Amino acid sequence: MDLDLKDRTFLVTAASRGLGFSVAKALVNEGAEVIICGRNEESLKKATSSLGELAEYYVADLSKKEDVQSLVKKIATNILLLDGLFVNAGGPPPGTFSKLTDDDWRKAFDLTLMSAVWLTRETIPLLKMSDSSSILFSTSVSVKQPIDNLLLSNAIRPAVIGMMRTLATELAPDYIRVNAICPGYIQTERVDELLSASESAEENITVKIPLKRIGKPDEFGPVAAFLMSPVSSYIHGALLLVDGGLYQGMM
Ligand code: NAD
Repeated sequence: MDLDLKDRTFLVTAASRGLGFSVAKALVNEGAEVIICGRNEESLKKATSSLGELAEYYVADLSKKEDVQSLVKKIATNILLLDGLFVNAGGPPPGTFSKLTDDDWRKAFDLTLMSAVWLTRETIPLLKMSDSSSILFSTSVSVKQPIDNLLLSNAIRPAVIGMMRTLATELAPDYIRVNAICPGYIQTERVDELLSASESAEENITVKIPLKRIGKPDEFGPVAAFLMSPVSSYIHGALLLVDGGLYQGMM
């Protein structure tokens, strides 16, 4: 299927590795131009050179409003429009209620919710200029079902879904589609670290997944590319789980 992504331009955030990188790779494979960002210039250089000449990078810490504003300002000096924004950032730290401090909560709020607010606000003028644009918020299966020891993710990510569902109405007049994608367990560096915690860690997770395995990044990136492509022109306000069946609720 031709996703009609050739010569379209996307901003994929937190993409020097992991899920963001898998999305950038899938878009580039379809002929799209991709702008990636992250905090570490060396990792971004490496990622960009492996993506090839359709990719470029900017350094930005998404938990800082001024970094997000200056990121989009720099992008806007080089391009007239954006066809899509993939909203992604590092995950908030694990922890239970009794261990987390106010500072942990505030930092997680900025990283997980406010980064999505700032990225959306700053890119709307560029997205409005495209004939087919969309915002795809990457969250987690935790918006459907809490994950043990990930209180900050369980509490703050659902707010991103609330924003997405509201923006689906508010941005429709500007023809900007808005959706969310919710990974379960996809084998990125972050998940590798989680799995290395103990010998039984992988089995403890896969036993709960009907497909009985962790997903691969190449099973995530192309799905995100599809959702941001013109082929998905009637998918709006939707939330798609990419979790091997982990979430088993009816709704
Ligand atoms: P990862 O650690 O492999 O990659 C995270 C990327 O985000 C890196 O490129 C890192 O440099 C960048 N990053 C981190 N903090 C940043 C910041 N403040 N500003 C800019 N860039 C920043 O992680 P991943 O597995 O790709 O996960 C990405 C997001 O998806 C995280 O929020 C994670 O919690 C969430 N998630 C992942 C999974 C999974 O299975 N991999 C499942 C559910 C949710």
